Amino acid sequence: MQYESTTTLSYAQPQLYIAGRWLEAQDRRTEDVLNPATGQVLAQLPHATRADLDAALQAAQQAFAGWRAAAPLERSRILRAAATLVRERADTIALSMTLEQGKPLREARLEVLASADTFDWYAEEGRRNYGRVVPGRTLTQRITVLHEPVGVCAAFTPWNFPAVTPARKIAGALAAGCTLILKLAEETPASGLALVRALHDAGLPPGVLNAVFGVPGEVSSYLLDSPVVAKFSFTGSTAVGKLLAQQAAKGLKRATMELGGHAPAIICADADVNQAADMLVAGKFRNAGQICIAPTRFYVHAQVYDAFVQAFVERTRKLQPGNGLKESSHLGPLANPRRQQAMRSLIDDAVQHGARVECGGQALEGPGFFWQPTVLTDVPEHARLMNEEPFGPLALINRVDSVEEAIERSNRLPYGLASYAFTQHSPTRMQLTRGLQTGMLGINSLNVSMSEAPFGGVKESGWGSECGIEGLQAYCDIKLISED
Ligand code: NAD
Repeated sequence: MQYESTTTLSYAQPQLYIAGRWLEAQDRRTEDVLNPATGQVLAQLPHATRADLDAALQAAQQAFAGWRAAAPLERSRILRAAATLVRERADTIALSMTLEQGKPLREARLEVLASADTFDWYAEEGRRNYGRVVPGRTLTQRITVLHEPVGVCAAFTPWNFPAVTPARKIAGALAAGCTLILKLAEETPASGLALVRALHDAGLPPGVLNAVFGVPGEVSSYLLDSPVVAKFSFTGSTAVGKLLAQQAAKGLKRATMELGGHAPAIICADADVNQAADMLVAGKFRNAGQICIAPTRFYVHAQVYDAFVQAFVERTRKLQPGNGLKESSHLGPLANPRRQQAMRSLIDDAVQHGARVECGGQALEGPGFFWQPTVLTDVPEHARLMNEEPFGPLALINRVDSVEEAIERSNRLPYGLASYAFTQHSPTRMQLTRGLQTGMLGINSLNVSMSEAPFGGVKESGWGSECGIEGLQAYCDIKLISED
C-alpha cells in the first residue's frame, strides 16, 4: 500500500536546539520514536544531558537582555515570518505529525495551520502590549503601569497536539519579550521542532528559544530548580501539574497550567438532537478522543434521551479507525499501549458497575494502538470512568430529568475545563452560563479554542489561560511607576 512506503523516508531525525545550534545524538542517550499506527520505529530521539540543560539555561539567560530590548515590531516580524514558513511547509509538517502522533492527515494539516495562526495572532498582540496611565492623586502626580516580560521561561508540552500546544507557549513567551526553554513531548518531537526550525529560519536570535528532550520528570525538575527560570507553562495531566506546582513553589515561580478535563455535554429537552449528535460525534472522536476538552460525560434530558442515543450511536458506528495516512480513516490510534490498557480497565470497571456498551469497546486487531469508537450508556457516577479522565474515544451517556440535575452532576468533579450544552432557550442558556463551573462553555457549539480567546480551566483543570490577551499577560510582570 502506498501509505506504508511513505513512513520513515519522510520523517526527519530529531535534534536538540540550544543557543541557535542543532545538536545531533552523538554519544547522548536516545529513545525510540514510534509510529503509533504501526508500532514501527521512526527515529532515535537524543536526550539532553545536564550540560545541555545548563547550556540552554545559559543561552536563554544571555539572550533575554537583547530580546526584551528588541522592538515589539521586530519580534512581531520574526513571528510573522515564521508563520509564513510554517504555512509553506504545512504538508511536510502534517505528514510528520501523522507519522508520530497518528491523527488523520487532514486533522494534522489543520493543526499546523492553527499553529501558524497562533504565531500571527501573538505577533500582532505583542505590538499591543499596552500599559496604562492611572489618574494621580495630585495635579502633579503621574502613575504609569508597564507590562514587562517575566524573564526566562520553561514549557512542557504533551503529545496530543504536538504543534499547536507548543505554538501557544512559544508565541506567548516570545511576543511578550521572554526567552524560552521548551521540552517537547518525547513521543512527538518532529511537529514542535518544525515550528522551532521555522523561527530559526525566520532569523530568531540564538538562545531566545531552545528545545530539549529527556526523561520528563528529570528535565522539569532540573529546570524548575534553576534560579534562572522565572516562569513555567505546562499542558498535561492534573497529577503531573500538581507535582510541578509543588516543585516550582520552592522558587515561587509563576505558572500557567492547562490540565485535565472531563467535559460534560448537556442535551436539553428543546435541543436539535440531530445537530447535537453531528457535532458531538465529531468533537468526541477527533484525535481519537485524546483531547482535554473532548465532550465525555453526556447528560441527556429524558424527553430526548432515546432519540439522542440512537442518533449518536448510529453516527459512531460509521466511523472508521485506521492509519491516519489513509483517506478513509476517521480516527487514528491511541498514543501508546498504556492508553489501550487504560481503556480496557475503565470500560471493564464501568460494565461491572452496570454500564451498557452500545458500540465499540475493544482494541482493534493488528498492529498499532487502535481503539474502537465506543459508546456506553447508564454509567453510574461512582464508576471510575465518570471520575477519571478517559483521554480516549469513549462517550458516556446518561439520562437526566432537569437542567438543574445536569448542572449539579456536571459540577461534581474537581475538573472544570470545557463544558458544552445544546439548547435554543435563552433562560436555559443563562442558567447554564451561571451554573456551570467551567473555564470554557460551548452552547450549540464545540468551538472553544481560538487564538484570540482565552483557553484555560478552573478548579483542578489549571491555572491561567493561553491565547487571548490573557495569554500574553501570562508572560508579563506588572511594574508601577509613580512620579511627582
Ligand atoms: P503522562 O502523565 O505520563 O504524560 C502526559 C504528558 O505529560 C506527557 O507529554 C509527558 O511527557 C508529560 N509529563 C509527564 N510527567 C512530567 C513531568 N514530571 N514533567 C514534565 N512533563 C511531564 O501520561 P501519558 O500516558 O503519556 O498520557 C495520559 C494522560 O496524560 C491522560 O490521562 C491525560 O490526562 C494526560 N494528558 C493531558 C493532556 C492535555 O492536553 N491536558 C495531553 C496529553 C496527556
